[in-house]
Amino acid sequence: MPSTAQPAPTAITSDDYAARMARVVNDALDVGLAGVIVTPGPDLVWLTGYRPPITERLTMLVFSPDQEPTLLVPLLERRDAEEAEGAALVSIVDWMDGTDPYEAARPLLRPDGQFGISDSAWAMHMIGLEQTLPHSSYRALSECLPMLRAVKDVSELARLEAAGAAADAVYDEIVRVRFAGRRETDVAADLAGLLRYHGHEQVDFTVVGSGPNGANPHHEAGDRLIEPGDTVVLDFGGLMFGYGSDTTRTVSVGEARPEVREVHEIVRRAQQAAVDAVRPGVACQDIDRVARKVITEAGYGDHFIHRTGHGIGVTTHEPPYIVEGEGQLLVPGMCFSIEPGIYLAGRFGVRIEDIVTVTGTGVQRLNNTSRALRIVE
Ligand code: ZN
Ligand code: ZN
Ligand code: ZN
Repeated sequence: MPSTAQPAPTAITSDDYAARMARVVNDALDVGLAGVIVTPGPDLVWLTGYRPPITERLTMLVFSPDQEPTLLVPLLERRDAEEAEGAALVSIVDWMDGTDPYEAARPLLRPDGQFGISDSAWAMHMIGLEQTLPHSSYRALSECLPMLRAVKDVSELARLEAAGAAADAVYDEIVRVRFAGRRETDVAADLAGLLRYHGHEQVDFTVVGSGPNGANPHHEAGDRLIEPGDTVVLDFGGLMFGYGSDTTRTVSVGEARPEVREVHEIVRRAQQAAVDAVRPGVACQDIDRVARKVITEAGYGDHFIHRTGHGIGVTTHEPPYIVEGEGQLLVPGMCFSIEPGIYLAGRFGVRIEDIVTVTGTGVQRLNNTSRALRIVE
């Protein structure tokens, strides 16, 4: 097989990391925080490119308005931290096994400060900080700075575009494999192989929901033998150059029944209407309402049992959420899924999902395969 490996898009530069760090400090000031504590996971990757092992040893990056960003690391990982892409922009301090890491953190934190802390921080670390600084307090970053990573810069958009194009190439190939007589897990394995073949370094999910399993939006893949006449929901994605892909198409194994065609067409119209509604200044919840209205008016409102979409970046589910109650206005550079579905319990399901980017005037899809109901063998 010829290799389809692509060159990495433009590098994430030191200026990009500096701009992200400045955004953290400014946003923290805006909401009255004494600082922001970033622990290993997506926030730390986004800010520094650093991916330490996620263990019980305390690693944290502290931002506050009156000091340099400082990364506290276990001594044995200091060398790795120094080699991270954004490391030149932070000062690094370490703590040694056998000493108290929270005492090492003390000088970095205002004793009575309120801090935003990464959602994925371990509870044991937050409790350790609270015991060391009993007058400090903490808020989840997703609650106090929900949009921190939501607006993508040029290097991020290039990666998301590459990931979307790779996912599209996977779909173009999966519809040529045999479905009838194979198990869902066999098709899921094909999807995983194709994602890697088309440049993904990580596969996060390969949903193959055949027949009644398609009515469960988070069914991954099981032993079920796919039969002629089945509807199959294919929802797959992962990370490429560190950024996510996530697309869904629903196919029919052989000719589709009229009811399947009708439901598929309603979902297709709902998805198209929601994409067409995307432009700067529209609230996230309004995009959800547009999709829901089409499905509700067609009589299937009770069967659209999840939000319309989620942001995507260094993770595959992140703000902005396209959901009722989210008043956040869309801003150019935001990137998220639009994925309405109809789920008929015990029978079948249909979902159609594309990643889109908000442009200066409207919208650009990052997934561009046909959304027509595809017949497979
Ligand atoms: Zn999901
Ligand atoms: Zn998906
Ligand atoms: Zn999704």
